[in-house]
Order: sequence, then C-alpha cells, then structure tokens
Amino acid sequence: MPDAPVLLVVDDDPRGRNVIERELRKRYGADYTVFCAGSADDPLRLLAGLRDDRRPVSMVLVGERMAGTAGTELLARVGEVDRTAKRLLLTDGGYGPPSESILQAIALGHIDAYVARPVTVPDERFHLAVTELLEEWARSHRPRFEVVRVVGEEWSARSHEIRDLMDRNSVPFGFYPAGSEEGKALLQRAGAGAALPVIILFDGRVLVNPANAEIAEALGLKTRPGAGLYDVAVIGAGPAGLAAAVYGASEGLSTVLLEPEAIGGQAGTSSHIRNYLGFPMGVSGEDLAVRAYTQAWNFGAEYVYGSPATGLRVLGRERVVTVAGGSEVRSRAVVIATGVSYRRLGIPSLDALTGAGVFYGAATSEAQAMKDREVFVVGGANSAGQAAVHLARHAARVTMLVRGHSLADGMSDYLITEITSTPNIAVRHNVVVTGGGGTGRLESLALRDRESGVTETVPAAAVFVLIGAEPRTQWLPDGIARDQWGFVITGSDLLADGYHPGGWPLDRPPMFLESSLPGVFAAGDVRRGSVKRVASAVGEGSIAIRLVYDYLHDS
Ligand SMILES: Cc1cc2nc3c(=O)[nH]c(=O)nc-3n(C[C@H](O)[C@H](O)[C@H](O)COP(=O)(O)OP(=O)(O)OC[C@H]3O[C@@H](n4cnc5c(N)ncnc54)[C@H](O)[C@@H]3O)c2cc1C
Repeated sequence: MPDAPVLLVVDDDPRGRNVIERELRKRYGADYTVFCAGSADDPLRLLAGLRDDRRPVSMVLVGERMAGTAGTELLARVGEVDRTAKRLLLTDGGYGPPSESILQAIALGHIDAYVARPVTVPDERFHLAVTELLEEWARSHRPRFEVVRVVGEEWSARSHEIRDLMDRNSVPFGFYPAGSEEGKALLQRAGAGAALPVIILFDGRVLVNPANAEIAEALGLKTRPGAGLYDVAVIGAGPAGLAAAVYGASEGLSTVLLEPEAIGGQAGTSSHIRNYLGFPMGVSGEDLAVRAYTQAWNFGAEYVYGSPATGLRVLGRERVVTVAGGSEVRSRAVVIATGVSYRRLGIPSLDALTGAGVFYGAATSEAQAMKDREVFVVGGANSAGQAAVHLARHAARVTMLVRGHSLADGMSDYLITEITSTPNIAVRHNVVVTGGGGTGRLESLALRDRESGVTETVPAAAVFVLIGAEPRTQWLPDGIARDQWGFVITGSDLLADGYHPGGWPLDRPPMFLESSLPGVFAAGDVRRGSVKRVASAVGEGSIAIRLVYDYLHDS
C-alpha cells in the first residue's frame, strides 16, 4: 500500500495552524497525511526530504505572514522544490482587494490560489478552495483506470498529438513507449503489428495507427452527422462554437457541433484563463470547455467529433457542409467558429511555461502583475506595439524583440512614435528567441542576433508572444468573403460605399456577424475585427444564434 499523499501546512501562528490541521484531518484524513510546520522548522528542507523519500505532496498551504518572509515568497520557493504540489496561500481575510504581492504571485504562477483562513468551523469556502486544488492535482497524479492505453514512439509527433487529444478531451489514458518493457508486453499481448501508435481500449479492442475519428468512434462518440436537416450547424468547438451550441440548443434549434480535435479550441490549451467572468482565481481551459460541452449536451446539441469541415455549398435553402471522410451536414444556417492558430514560438522549454511567464497574446490582464519587472515582447506588428506600451506602464523595462530591421515594416506610425518616446521601452531588431526556461516559471530567454549569429542568455520574468495568428478558413468557398489575411468579413464591413456585397441576393443588408453568404455567420477569432478573447468569442457565439433565429424566422 503506497503512502498517502501529503498536505503540508506551514504557518507561524500555532492557534491558526491547529485550526487548519484539525479541519484538514477531519475532512481529508482518510486519503491524505497532514503535516504541519512553522517557518522555524525549515519547511523547504522538510519538503525536499519528502521529495527525496518519493512521498507525493498534493498541496502546501502557507500563511500570508511568516517570520522573516512573506507567504507568497515562501510559496515561490516551494515551487522550486516541488513543481507539482498545489500552492494555497492562507490570507488573514478582510474585504478589500488582494495585496499587490498576491496579485503578482498569481500572475507569475507562484501560487495557485488564495483563500481566507477558516473562521467558522467547518468553513465551506476554505474547503471548496482545498477540494478544487486537490481535484486538479489528482487528475494528473492519482492512479486512475486507463480507458485507453497508447503504445508509441515517445517522441513522434503523432504520439504527442494523441496524448494531447486524450488530455484535452479528458480521456483517462496511459502512454507506454514502444521500447519500454511494458510497451513491448502490451504490443505482444495485443498481437499488434509494427505500425505505431497502437491504441488498446479498456475492453481489449486494438486500433493500429488510427485516425482521430476512429479513436472517437471506438470511445462511443458520434463521428458522423445525422442525415436529416439541422436548424444550425456550428463548425468548431472553441469558446465561440460551444456558446453557439449552448444557445442554439437552449433556444430549441436542432443544433449540430462539429469538431476535429478537442473541445475548447485555443482556450482549451490554456492552463489558466484568468480574465473570464465569474472565475476569480482563474479556470483551466479544459475545465471551462468540459463544463460548456456538458451544458450544450444537456440542452440536446449533437456533437460530431473527429473530422474537419472541408467545404460549404448552397443547395436551395439548405447550407451543406462537407466533412472529411465523405459525410455531409445539411443545415438551414451555419455558424463558422473555426478560430485561429496562434503562431507559437515552437520552443518546447518555453511552451512548457505557458501561463508561468510565457504568454501568448494575453498581455492586458497580466500587465499590473509585471510591476518593476523585466519583461519581453516578441513581435513587431501593432498588437506587439500596443502590448509593449501597455506593459511599460507597470514593468521596470520592456524589451521588444523584433525579427526585422525596422518597426516601420509592420507597425502604425503613431505607435512607433509612442514607443520611441517611452523611456522604459527598448527595441531590439534582427533578434529571434531560440530558447529559454526556468524552474516552474520563466527565468531566462536565449536570444540570437540574426546578423552576427551571436547568442546570449538574458534574465526574463515574462515574455509576451505576439507573432500573429492565422484564421482557419482555407476550407471555405470563394463565395464567403475574407480579408487579405483570411478572416471572414461580416455585417457592415461587407458594404462597399453602402452597397451590398457582390452576389448578395437579398434586399436587406447582411446582419451583424453574417458573412457574404446569407444564413452563414461567423463568430469568434475567425471573424475580421473580433477581439481575440474567450469572453468575446463566447459573446459572439451567443449573439450569432440570435441572428440565426431571426434569419430562420424571416426566410
Ligand atoms: C495559449 C493561449 C492562451 C490564451 N489565454 C487566454 C486568456 O487567458 N484569456 C482570454 O480571454 N483569451 C485567451 N486566449 C485567446 C482565446 O483562447 C481565444 O480568443 C478563443 O479561444 C477564441 O475562441 P474561438 O472559438 O473563436 O476559436 P478557437 O478557440 O480557435 O476554436 C476554434 C475551434 O475550431 C476548430 N476547427 C478549426 N478548423 C476546423 C474545421 N475545418 N472544421 C471543424 N472545426 C474546426 C478547432 O479545432 C478549434 O477547436 C488564449 C489563446 C491561447 C492560444
């Protein structure tokens, strides 16, 4: 029987510590061991000892005020000793906003959450914070029943893709490298041939090098749309598509939602969304996506998984979406919510720190937490310039890393003026990021000068990557107008000098969010002019349904 995982309480106030210890033992004593310490007991050494003994630590709870150090600082150092333990700061309550040090600690990933010390016993708010963090920890650290076992080459792209898809779709799975003893045994038992990866399902079924749709089908998901006519087909299950599915189904429209990869889209890849309304401590993209998906499901939306939309055509009053693999979705209206792919740096050591000092596009919400810090912005277009100006109001220094030799190539003149007149913004041209890393959070970046070829390592608290995004619209027909970058043009943007777009067959102008093809709407990041945020994608997804409703009513 393995040792129970540890909950470690570090607090200098013996009375407060006793209350927390009692509460934890009472509620979690059957499954966890509770250890307590004061700062004089050298909690970091205690933690290192547990690590060396291979004793899992699920959570470290630290009092806000400790002798000689702030709780936030101690928790930052906890993260250096044990990167997997959840870190909960116990505040002394009060109704005011959290202190600046707490805000910084959250943004830099030094704490996972903060909660007021228990005042009444039992204090359910305290327990809710503890339980939520334990649930997150258990998801990746508790042994669980493996619905799927994947045997593959450890570093192959497809193995990575399958692991990623399983993870983002919340399918409990185990991965076994083909060269490992367990991997070899599984392959032999399954009688599988040489083609990898091999998937072994809980009931013994074996899939050799399967496509996503085959895996989905084997797991009991629907992979083909129904033959009947839907009211609305939603293409893409990111935040915009999920919102459209929830509102479509809840308004009584027969709704089908098509997704080739994983629910949640880009948001599903974010470990910590901090600016979505109603989640003060943030929410993982996966969690948000699973909740939205369940909500859509409960209202009766149909989810078709595994294959991308490959085309769209008009057949009388119907809009027909073709799907890879040969099937078709017949629908009266369509919402395109296929989003964008943010260009990544493609540096694994940095991608592993997304949300812990490495941020893709989400500069505004993190800016305040960058107070007095050294931060970097990668990119040379307007979005990067705006981020730099905004960050410079808080950070000690902002360094823009620009690939080209001039900002003028991609940035508006007014922004260049603003940047050059802001004393704490430096612009480095002809520079690319080649690496970087840190323990639990970003600490340094490796930069290469493209002209001299010289590489240097610089200390960095955060890097904001704004190197563009590509809309996923290649599958759309020419009849759906897009701008020069491929974003779908909608509503009044389609009107040239007040005139309807060419080929527009109706007397009325296109509605807000409606594309140049009547009855086909676009929502979220895929739409020209959209705000690239989860909340705005959700807002557009729900508004699109209102417009679909009007369209169906009038046509
Ligand atoms: C790492 C990261 C972190 C972020 N953090 C934040 C944050 O903290 N706060 C915030 O507000 N915003 C954040 N964003 C931005 C936010 O995630 C996006 O603005 C939001 O997800 C856009 O939603 P969407 O539904 O329009 O598109 P997407 O999220 O891009 O979803 C589009 C979906 O369509 C599917 N799709 C694509 N092509 C097809 C096809 N041919 N057929 C069918 N389906 C298709 C895709 O698989 C995907 O699931 C972050 C983005 C990234 C990349």
